[in-house]
Amino acid sequence: MRINLHILKIIEKKRDKLGLTQQEIEYLVQQYVAGAVPDYQIAAFLMATCINGMSEEEISWLTSAMLHSGEVIEHNALGGPLVDKHSTGGVGDKISIPLAPAMAACGLRVPMIAGRGLGHTGGTLDKLESIPGFRCELKSREYQDVVERVGCVIMGATDKIVPADRKFYALRDVTATVPSLALLSSSIMSKKLAEGIDALVLDVKFGSGAFMQTKNDAKSLAHAMVAIGDHLGKKVTARLTNMDQPLGRMVGNALEIAESIDILKGSGPKDSTDLTVLLGAEMLLLGNMATSLAEGRKQVEEALSSGRAFNKFVEMVKAQGGNIEVLHQPSKLPQAPNKIEILASDDGFVEAIDCRSIGLALNVLGGGRCQLTDTIDHSVGIEALIKIGDKLEKHQPMFLLHTNGKGVEEAKSRVLHAISLCPHPVTKSELCHDRITNKNLL
Ligand code: URA
Repeated sequence: MRINLHILKIIEKKRDKLGLTQQEIEYLVQQYVAGAVPDYQIAAFLMATCINGMSEEEISWLTSAMLHSGEVIEHNALGGPLVDKHSTGGVGDKISIPLAPAMAACGLRVPMIAGRGLGHTGGTLDKLESIPGFRCELKSREYQDVVERVGCVIMGATDKIVPADRKFYALRDVTATVPSLALLSSSIMSKKLAEGIDALVLDVKFGSGAFMQTKNDAKSLAHAMVAIGDHLGKKVTARLTNMDQPLGRMVGNALEIAESIDILKGSGPKDSTDLTVLLGAEMLLLGNMATSLAEGRKQVEEALSSGRAFNKFVEMVKAQGGNIEVLHQPSKLPQAPNKIEILASDDGFVEAIDCRSIGLALNVLGGGRCQLTDTIDHSVGIEALIKIGDKLEKHQPMFLLHTNGKGVEEAKSRVLHAISLCPHPVTKSELCHDRITNKNLL
């Protein structure tokens, strides 16, 4: 393919730290999606953007151009506010699964498009596919119908949604340009806004199990995504949350469905329940269904304790073809035959957990994937019996591996080496940190 001279000028401008116009950004995205620009030119553009960054305006133009490279879902104008949540991903982060039905039970419509696990983080779609028959691949029409009938849906992206991101992401992956703030924030936000939502809550994670390791990097990403909302007229609130230890108790696909059911019935672990309630309260606030976070919290807690959130989940799973019997009897979810305890090597306090190693240990057991084409075993997983700050006695169980026999020795070693014990008491880490929201909502 011949070089495109106009694109060459755009690359030169980005190389020389000059601002691009909206027309230039739209042209680049349109031409790339149309197959009229060679990958090597876009690779150069991506690297120049990664090094020199983009202004808030440029990022919002890029997001908008990517968003309009494909279908933007339209929903019935009648009905509750359309609000979604996005998490930047972590270990044991199953919050979308109880949150979407809890919000539908509170009167929001949640048209959630979710992803698959890759690397050390799990994916909502893989977890839901632990439920026999559950279909994540829906056509746009069916997706809209489920939102109308049930109030929430969780499905995978179709080929028609933000095709620009698919092309850009594949190239970013092989050109070391994934971590660029401009490219990351536009990639995430274009896909979420293609759902046709009015407002979005972001859970931006930081720590050993997060994409962003430091709180400062997470904050920059949160600011960039909220600014996109400011420019594109969408209400966006981001919460920074800690991912220095697995969220909740279960890590692994079917195990996380079981924990989600516990959360939905008001009997989940404290941290995963607290985060569901907090993010839910933020969603209700953005959707004008609550006038304060405290009021929002009450609504979510009531939806969980009354069973209304669980009933919504049953409706959603049924509408997406899943066997609802396993929701009523979670022991019928895929179960691994062997359980292996990992014991504390000494007395002490839990000082740190390398959460990324826990996520990678799940992959070794067969519960995650290293490449998108890998198949996963839904039954295996890792149960965390400890939290940072806990006092342990020598030989006290810290983790329980649920295995089918694959990769046990390596997983055991990864989990054991992920834990640091120390002789003195350790402060427990806070789960929820800064709140960043639109300028006009402050
Ligand atoms: N997730 C996304 O959706 N996009 C990225 O660029 C990285 C993670």
